[in-house]
Amino acid sequence: MLDVCDIQIMKPLLAEHGFHFSKAKGQNFLIARWVPERIAEEAGVDATAGVLEIGPGIGPLTQQLALRAGKVCAVELDKRLEPILAATVGEFSNLEIIWDDVLKQNIPQLVAEKFPGLRPMACANLPYYITSPILSALLEAECFQAVTVMVQKEVALRIAAKPGTADYSAFTVFCQYYAQPEILFDVPAHCFLPQPKVTSAVVTLKTYEHCPWDIADKTTFFRTVKASFAMRRKKLLNGLAAGFSELGKEALAEIIAECGFDENVRGETLSIAQFASLSNAIYRRKAK
Ligand code: SAM
Repeated sequence: MLDVCDIQIMKPLLAEHGFHFSKAKGQNFLIARWVPERIAEEAGVDATAGVLEIGPGIGPLTQQLALRAGKVCAVELDKRLEPILAATVGEFSNLEIIWDDVLKQNIPQLVAEKFPGLRPMACANLPYYITSPILSALLEAECFQAVTVMVQKEVALRIAAKPGTADYSAFTVFCQYYAQPEILFDVPAHCFLPQPKVTSAVVTLKTYEHCPWDIADKTTFFRTVKASFAMRRKKLLNGLAAGFSELGKEALAEIIAECGFDENVRGETLSIAQFASLSNAIYRRKAK
């Protein structure tokens, strides 16, 4: 197996195929072998796993996944990588590559088709320019046991943030609605070619088998979350009044009291369970 993280091997390989990195496609390739090894290991990939990889690049993580998994399906946008991947991962019979944009895939259908009888997982060193849409699509697909991704460290901190902290955001609530996050380890910029400007981190999101939240209506829940974070450091009431103008400020003040929150409470201090009861009260009031 070619050690694609060895720069003495990688550089001539890329040159041989006239490959130039595309910034627009978020191409920062791993050049430290411990990183893909640790991602595959700590993601819990084994022979019972069917792994969807996004953006294999020249295959450092793909190799580590294919060595361990029952099956790997990798989705890569950049067709220029085809001959390079043929050299680096062509030997794996449990690997299939789909040459397309991951955001155009019907992920639940793909997973059902490619991984029958296996535990579906997603693993990736994500292209940072579309981290949020990809992560959203993976979680909304509701078909993975775990989603383990490398992202910018600041994004990892947002994903795993606690209520009331500076990193806690609507995206935090979105992620934690679906899964329990854990930051596994940091990856310094010198582990990539070309080097990104920021530190990265690997985060794993263990998805809930059964939704642990008592939520009457998912749309109202996420609308409540969005409105609650729209005006940070302002009273929750102001954000809700802007986001649910059809209910009026008076009714929303009553709802806040009904939920047992202080009238001066700020949206960014609420836990997911508290957002659930708030959104349920809003939903009930709208149905009246
Ligand atoms: N996995 C490789 C590694 O760790 O060295 C490459 C990671 S690089 C950060 C991101 C990869 O995602 C690139 O190979 C890029 O071409 C690919 N990519 C970018 N946008 C994509 C998209 N919309 N769908 C699928 N792959 C994409």
